Amino acid sequence: MSCATALGGAYRKGDGVLFPFPLLYGYAEALRRAGVEIRTRCEVTSVRQVGGLFEVITPSGPVRAKKVLNAAGGWSSSVAGMLGVEIPTRPVRHQIMVSEPLLPVLDPMVVTIKDGFYMSQGPRGELVGGIKESGAHGNDPARSSIGFCQQMSRRIVSLFPRLSAARMMRQWAGFYDMSPDANPILDELPGREGAFVACGFSGHGFMISPAVGDFMASLIVGERPRFGREAYRLSRFAEGKGVHETLVIG
Ligand SMILES: Cc1cc2nc3c(=O)[nH]c(=O)nc-3n(C[C@H](O)[C@H](O)[C@H](O)COP(=O)(O)OP(=O)(O)OC[C@H]3O[C@@H](n4cnc5c(N)ncnc54)[C@H](O)[C@@H]3O)c2cc1C
Repeated sequence: MSCATALGGAYRKGDGVLFPFPLLYGYAEALRRAGVEIRTRCEVTSVRQVGGLFEVITPSGPVRAKKVLNAAGGWSSSVAGMLGVEIPTRPVRHQIMVSEPLLPVLDPMVVTIKDGFYMSQGPRGELVGGIKESGAHGNDPARSSIGFCQQMSRRIVSLFPRLSAARMMRQWAGFYDMSPDANPILDELPGREGAFVACGFSGHGFMISPAVGDFMASLIVGERPRFGREAYRLSRFAEGKGVHETLVIG
């Protein structure tokens, strides 16, 4: 790695890298074993309150429930809008580039704070990383762009000159669901008792997902979450109580 432009650095031996799909499949499998029905590719098109229940309309029929949770990522604010509640989050595109599998070349995940670059090497040898997109408009569609491909390739070669011959295999784009203070919103919706929201993860939702699950489970069954109840309320923005998270990578 070239440290020519680095002023300093930090190495945290205890940090690790976790790949999302095995975790997600593990959660899904555990839910199925517990008797939960999971419907994939099933879009919620509207939600209304009928009597004491919520009726969630989907192409595969309505679902009625006493309690609902909006965890729609970058689409959370539009899903909340179905219940007439405004949530101040917005989807911002971020992209990832993945190389062909390589022999082990990178042990820790490398992050450069200044330009939001990060890269790690996966278990099959692929280098996986992203960078804060220059020239992003803030309302770009979740599609890959040539500009990102060029920017990322240049950055990889400037930091790791020996990787100039590495071939990139694929690229993908998704949304960070950005909240005004870059911290999540974990709450019951005001005036909609029984409707909950977990959104605004601002690019760091995966690593905190077990704690978020624990938090939301407590909230939904009417218990006090074990940490941070006040910090993640929706009302903090109107009350000017948000504490801004400065470390948003990418
Ligand atoms: C490029 C990129 C890199 C990232 N890197 C990291 C990282 O290194 N570490 C980290 O911790 N986090 C990272 N994140 C952020 C992380 O992916 C998110 O914070 C996390 O996935 C949020 O989880 P979620 O379940 O709330 O939302 P999502 O994972 O976005 O899931 C929301 C789901 O809701 C579905 N949905 C939306 N609207 C509807 C509807 N109307 N009806 C039905 N379903 C709907 C969507 O299809 C989607 O499946 C990254 C994100 C991106 C885009």
